[in-house]
Amino acid sequence: MIKPERPLAYIGRFAPSPSGDLHFGSLITAIGSYLQARANQGKWLIRIDDIDPPREVAGAASRILQSLEHYGLHWDGEILYQSQRYEAYRYVLNQLQQQGLSYNCICTRQRIQQANGFYDKNCRESNLPLNHAAIRLKQNNPVYGFEDKLLGYLSADPAMAEEDFIIHRRDGLFAYNLAVVIDDDYQGVTEVVRGADLIEPTVRQIALYQQLNLKIPDYIHLPLALNKNGNKLSKQNHAQPVPLDDPRPLLIEALAFLNQPVIKNWQDLSRDQLLKKATTHWDLDRIPRQGKIYK
Ligand SMILES: [Zn+2]
Repeated sequence: MIKPERPLAYIGRFAPSPSGDLHFGSLITAIGSYLQARANQGKWLIRIDDIDPPREVAGAASRILQSLEHYGLHWDGEILYQSQRYEAYRYVLNQLQQQGLSYNCICTRQRIQQANGFYDKNCRESNLPLNHAAIRLKQNNPVYGFEDKLLGYLSADPAMAEEDFIIHRRDGLFAYNLAVVIDDDYQGVTEVVRGADLIEPTVRQIALYQQLNLKIPDYIHLPLALNKNGNKLSKQNHAQPVPLDDPRPLLIEALAFLNQPVIKNWQDLSRDQLLKKATTHWDLDRIPRQGKIYK
């Protein structure tokens, strides 16, 4: 008798960049990914996506972790810092180069914007030296859409999907799309739960998984918390850090934002009891598909 294949144990993650403190918008993503992992009896990992030092805010990484602890979002295992992972990224870059799947590009942003905003593969056959060049992936097998477990099938702008995107920047930094794929694979992440602002690059990341012959995770993109002007709450538009007083009211607010069943008499529950209840009640199908104005 053939034994049925045991499904992979669930591994989820929250991967903030330390470009500012945890605010209500990022708390939504943290709670959503946490509850989805816990409801699936899975692990929930934390990764600090600190590959962009110019955008980093001093002390933000440790304040984010402190906020997560304050809100009772306890993670599993060691925290992974992308700034410690350069060797792994370098290895994959070399691998892609040796397989002829990448090339150096010296085109300016202005030149690309003058075209249609998407890169026209100008340097693909030029064999340029690396000095002051960006490295681009050859998109030989573009991915035009993907199945989101909350939002259904999402298709991408074909021009975006087909673009030879940057995997190593000309300023010497590794590109987010490269690092996120390598690290999610390294950490064994089976499902990526993140904000809807990251829908767009997903097809590029899937294409990269395929180029590297890695297992593609599932995807869930959560609705964004918007300010009164309809913009995403973010560090750039001065979203307030989450307060470090009684965590329960804001947890309740976050659960309401995700349209989860009401927890009655939560005032009588401790923070951890409240999260336990929220895990039991967690219902992915109830989550709104659209971003919502917050305050
Ligand atoms: Zn170029």
